[in-house]
Amino acid sequence: MFELQSVNKWYSPSFQVLKNCCLTVGKGEVVVVCGPSGSGKSTLIKCMNALEAVTDGRILVAGAEVTTPKADLPALRARVGMVFQSFELFSHMTILENLCIGQEKVLGRSREAAIAKANLLLERVGIAGQAGKYPGQLSGGQQQRVAIARALAMDPVAMLFDEPTSALDPEMINEVLDVMVSLAQEGMTMVVVTHEMGFARKVADRIVFMDAGEIVEVAPSETFFAAPQTDRARAFLSKIL
Ligand code: ADP
Ligand code: MG
Repeated sequence: MFELQSVNKWYSPSFQVLKNCCLTVGKGEVVVVCGPSGSGKSTLIKCMNALEAVTDGRILVAGAEVTTPKADLPALRARVGMVFQSFELFSHMTILENLCIGQEKVLGRSREAAIAKANLLLERVGIAGQAGKYPGQLSGGQQQRVAIARALAMDPVAMLFDEPTSALDPEMINEVLDVMVSLAQEGMTMVVVTHEMGFARKVADRIVFMDAGEIVEVAPSETFFAAPQTDRARAFLSKIL
């Protein structure tokens, strides 16, 4: 579903944020990306959705290269859902409108079809009954579940998550993780930047450990937690576990 081939990115001539990153994510696979703050995790997944441009190397999504001037970026972004730490809902729109706008404007769905899909998804993430409210009237956990539902409304082929629970109060983290666990169990291809190692152990097929712009380790989650291969990964794990 994703193929990163020797991806390099510089934010400025003196600062290389991604260093020769190579990664393949198969269909239905769940990959957790972890590593110290500033190691390039957010930049990496933004490149996978072409929200950031790479400097060189190639990225393919479902076989189509996104790192070429010919790439159809709106189509790509409609096919790969993204959920951010800060929810990024449209604050002046109701929850229902948040879920409908992309379906109608990007996918060309009818109003009726968009509303039906929105209601189904709101029910699925446990927000049925809040459709007429505005994002500011919901808790952080509810807003993040709306953000997930909004991404799913576009029928994505894969989902990218960037620290989806980092901005939440502790008691709301599990309600969001539960939605992500069920999505993973249904076979969604997911790349998740998170420090929730309980989630990682439970659903990740593989862990990607990044440090200073490099993918330092890629391993099945059992292997990574039981026997990290590098000092850098061991040092990281000793701080967060
Ligand atoms: P992480 O998500 O692992 O914390 P980021 O990808 O957000 O890492 O950032 C990696 C590095 O790139 C950090 O040093 C950060 O300050 C820097 N950085 C992030 N975004 C930009 C940007 N738009 N311009 C310049 N530097 C950036
Ligand atoms: Mg980040």
